[in-house]
Amino acid sequence: MEIIAEIEVTLMGTGVGIPHSGRAQAGLVLTADEPLLFDCGAGVLLRLSEAGFSPLEVDVVLLTHLHLDHVSDLLPLAKARWLLGERKLDLFGPEGSGVWFDQVRSLYPYLEELEVSITTVRPGDEFLLSGLKIRAGEGVHSLPALGYRIESGGRAVVYSGDTEPAPSIWELAEGADLLVHECSFPEPFIVTNHSTPRRLGETLRGSGVKRVVLTHLYPQTIGREEEMVRDVLAAIGDGARVEVGRDLQRILV
Ligand SMILES: [Zn+2]
Repeated sequence: MEIIAEIEVTLMGTGVGIPHSGRAQAGLVLTADEPLLFDCGAGVLLRLSEAGFSPLEVDVVLLTHLHLDHVSDLLPLAKARWLLGERKLDLFGPEGSGVWFDQVRSLYPYLEELEVSITTVRPGDEFLLSGLKIRAGEGVHSLPALGYRIESGGRAVVYSGDTEPAPSIWELAEGADLLVHECSFPEPFIVTNHSTPRRLGETLRGSGVKRVVLTHLYPQTIGREEEMVRDVLAAIGDGARVEVGRDLQRILV
């Protein structure tokens, strides 16, 4: 009998650059053998603690892009690890991540003691991390942006990062067990660089994705959550389960 290890996803932050109650900025932890943190916006460091993760456990961070609502708590995380005596951190991110990180941390000399390995990830890159197969896809956003597909034991989880609904994310999400996709605004907002329910559902049609969890919610989504789910479901048209994510939600895949 084949034993398939479960992947656990914990949403750290389902909010955005404009604060609203209950939603920290972007971040999620995916745990198979060890936790991988994807994005680290403001509030994520506290959410990690609330979810029971010590900063010492978070050795690897993968960034989708460098907007502040996805990176604000990265240096505070590095500092927490430094205070606890840990000097190493592995960082993966899009083009520019190395320059950004080195410039910001140069303002805090003690953080220069950290050994940070920074790997630039490009759309289409595939690599192994903690026994997981990871593939990056290109988001459609206002600066270089990545989505990630993570596979283990025949299961697949996809995180979109910030993007318009895009064929590149469809490809990442094809047949996935779980897609955590940004859905910044309800209908009838028309936006670039971000997703809205109907266009997201239409773009995902035929992908065969099994479960979609919406994240990256602007305050305009307050009270509109059920309607957003209905709009995605109506457009996707192929029986996926769709829901609006909430901070600290744990999802077993
Ligand atoms: Zn964002």
